[in-house]
Amino acid sequence: MGYKIKEIYYTLQGEGAQSGRAAVFCRFTGCNLWSGREQDRSAAICSFCDTDFVGMDGVNGGNFKSSEDLALKINEFWHLGGSNTSGVPFVVFTGGEPLLQLDGALVSSMKKSGFQVAIETNGTIIPPEGIDWICLSPKKGSEIILKKGSELKFVYPQQNFDPSQFENFDFEHFYIQPMEDGINTLHNTEAAIEFCLANPKWKLSIQTHKILKIK
Ligand code: SF4
Repeated sequence: MGYKIKEIYYTLQGEGAQSGRAAVFCRFTGCNLWSGREQDRSAAICSFCDTDFVGMDGVNGGNFKSSEDLALKINEFWHLGGSNTSGVPFVVFTGGEPLLQLDGALVSSMKKSGFQVAIETNGTIIPPEGIDWICLSPKKGSEIILKKGSELKFVYPQQNFDPSQFENFDFEHFYIQPMEDGINTLHNTEAAIEFCLANPKWKLSIQTHKILKIK
């Protein structure tokens, strides 16, 4: 079994309230809302994904047999990043859908190494205890059972899917992030700005790593 990892790398978080913060990103393979294969995209529940989460062939990807092995590897990247002398170690588990694989054992191994643990999830699976930062990005047509966390990031717009239905969820931050969609991206950005101006509970999140051209 083990943990199937697409890639691990050290970078700055580009989105949301932790934007600009150094982090080790650990991307799990697989998602429950799309197979990741282009031929399945139009029939998938989530059809606007911009991430390759198929296979274990990314940079530093592989099958990690135990939570200790994976924690050790993530630790190496934090230290390689040179940040071992300042700040709190920070790991972002993403995917795909990280909660298909992330379990209490891995959270606990990361905590033993002194890490703050963040996830980016689609909200269809309840996370294990002990996660410090939960970012939920809801997708139309999925059953969202996670209703509490740190930030709710709505990729905007999604047809017939209104962000305001999430305003009573228990989150500290509510973000609108323009959907990246080729020539429609500019229009989506303008629409997102308008939405935030009209609904001040929501803040604009932009993908700063793409602007900065970092991973
Ligand atoms: S839920 Fe997230 S990882 Fe899964 S297909 Fe959609 S955007 Fe991609």
